[in-house]
Amino acid sequence: AFNFCAGPATLPEAVLKQAQDEMLDWRGSGMSVMEMSHRSEAFIEIAETAEQDLRELAGISDDYAVLFMQGGASSQFSAIPLNLLGDRTGADYINTGIWSKKAIAEAARYADVNVAASSSDQGFSTVPDPSTWNTRADAAYLHYTPNETIGGVEYDFIPECGDVPLVADLSSTILSRPLDVSRFGLIYAGAQKNIGPSGLVVIIVRKDLLGKARPETPTMLNYQVIADNGSMYNTPATYSWYLAGLVFKWLKEQGGVAAMGELNERKARKLYDFIDANEFYANPVDPRYRSWMNVPFTLADEALNADFLKGADERGLLNLKGHRSVGGMRASLYNAMPEAGVDALIDYMASFARERG
Ligand code: PLP
Repeated sequence: AFNFCAGPATLPEAVLKQAQDEMLDWRGSGMSVMEMSHRSEAFIEIAETAEQDLRELAGISDDYAVLFMQGGASSQFSAIPLNLLGDRTGADYINTGIWSKKAIAEAARYADVNVAASSSDQGFSTVPDPSTWNTRADAAYLHYTPNETIGGVEYDFIPECGDVPLVADLSSTILSRPLDVSRFGLIYAGAQKNIGPSGLVVIIVRKDLLGKARPETPTMLNYQVIADNGSMYNTPATYSWYLAGLVFKWLKEQGGVAAMGELNERKARKLYDFIDANEFYANPVDPRYRSWMNVPFTLADEALNADFLKGADERGLLNLKGHRSVGGMRASLYNAMPEAGVDALIDYMASFARERG
């Protein structure tokens, strides 16, 4: 079966097999990783190796702290303003869809939020032209969502914002292609797409941005505290951290983010080319900003949606139903989705359109 779910999403089979092999007895320790103290030598090694592999994969320099926190990406919607505002009051946000909106709504509880640009008038089908962005030079940071998981909109550029730290919700595109981390003040990503189990969230933050948290910041959301304690201020999500480490090792074996980028571009292009060439299917997104990770599409006759999904399920093409807020279909093509999965989906879509279109 191929699982096209947007998250929690398919993970590399080799990783799951390894986790299964090691489940009851991790390397002769007589214990599962789940049962280990987070202070034990064995777990510290697992944790440090995961961080080191992520640093290598993503090209993260020593100027950045890497934090393994809990509460998913959504917890960061409030942690970011609480930690980064410092003595400023204003933060700029770009609104390109549902995840941007959630980040904005949460930040507005703490900050004077300026929505510097929005694609709402275009039905969130594109990225607003950066020459029209109404950003402020004195903003504490500029936040954007490089890949809108629900709308299927992905930036093909990194915004310029001078000395203002750039903050990115990379949840659904992290490690899917090369990225110049040095352009960012802070990157965060919920793990459940390209990294591992849900609940874990990875934060990559420039060290000079630490230490400015507002006094009322919950200790568990204070980046300085988490960094000072090696992400072990409390008991971390040990098993999720371990699984993330296995995924990072797998990614390195695949050739890292450069190889992933080539594969992901090819997978996405195949599917978009097929959709564009077939009158029965449509994708509403501005072609320049079509996501490599999440491909929403509609059928010419919506009354056939249920039949389409049923037939897909029978062929082991799982979780193609679009997000409840937009309807239609969505195929998520994260790193662990093999090209054969995309080929099988296209075969099925072609035969469904032939027979029912
Ligand atoms: N941001 C983006 C872009 C997402 O796709 C998601 C979840 O799918 C989230 C944030 C929220 O993540 P979590 O459920 O881990 O809080």
